[in-house]
Amino acid sequence: MHPDVEKVLISRMEIDEKVHELGNILSRDYAGKELLMVGILKGAVVFMADLARAMNIDVRIDFMAVSSYGASSKSTGVVRILKDLDKSIENCHVLIVEDIVDTGLTLNYLLDILQARNPASVRICTLLDKPSRREVNVPVDYNGFAIPDKFVVGYGLDYNEKYRHLPEIYVLKKEIYQSVK
Ligand code: 5GP
Repeated sequence: MHPDVEKVLISRMEIDEKVHELGNILSRDYAGKELLMVGILKGAVVFMADLARAMNIDVRIDFMAVSSYGASSKSTGVVRILKDLDKSIENCHVLIVEDIVDTGLTLNYLLDILQARNPASVRICTLLDKPSRREVNVPVDYNGFAIPDKFVVGYGLDYNEKYRHLPEIYVLKKEIYQSVK
C-alpha cells in the first residue's frame, strides 16, 4: 500500500463488480438509444474507461474539463469550463460520468449548461457519492458507492495530481492534505 494512504476503502474486486453491475444496468436502460458518455476530466478517466468497456451496447464518448478543488480539499463553488465537448449534443442521450459527488456544486452547474443545449436526455452516473456533504440537490441516477465524509484518492481520484494511478480507492492520511494547506 502507498505510504500516504491510511487504508483501502474500496478494493479492486469491489470496484470491478460494481462497474460491471452498472455497465449491465446502463446497457439495459439505453438499449436501442444512441448514448453519449461524457466523462469529467480528470478524475473520471479511469472509471469511464472501465465503464465504457463494461457496456454491451454501442456508445460514443467525449470529455469535459471543469475547474475544481486545485490544491485544497474544499469546494470553492466556482466552476469554470476548461474543455468543452467536441460536438453538439442536440437530441443526444447524454450520460455524465463523474468520479465523486461531494457538495453537488460541480454537477449542478454542468447539468444546467448541458440541459440548455437541448439533448434528448441527461442523466448522471457517479462512482462515489458523499451524501452527507451535499449542498445542492442534484439527481444522481446511477451511483456506485455511498461513502463517508473522508478524503479519498486512487482509481482516478487525486490529491494535488498525485495518486490517480493507484488501483483501489483509499482514504488519504490526514497529515498529507493538512500539511499542504
Ligand atoms: P462537488 O462539486 O460535488 O463538491 O465536487 C466534486 C469534485 O470534487 C469531484 O469531481 C472531485 O474532483 C472533488 N472531490 C470531492 N471529494 C473528493 C475526495 O474525497 N477525493 C478527491 N480526490 N476529490 C474529491
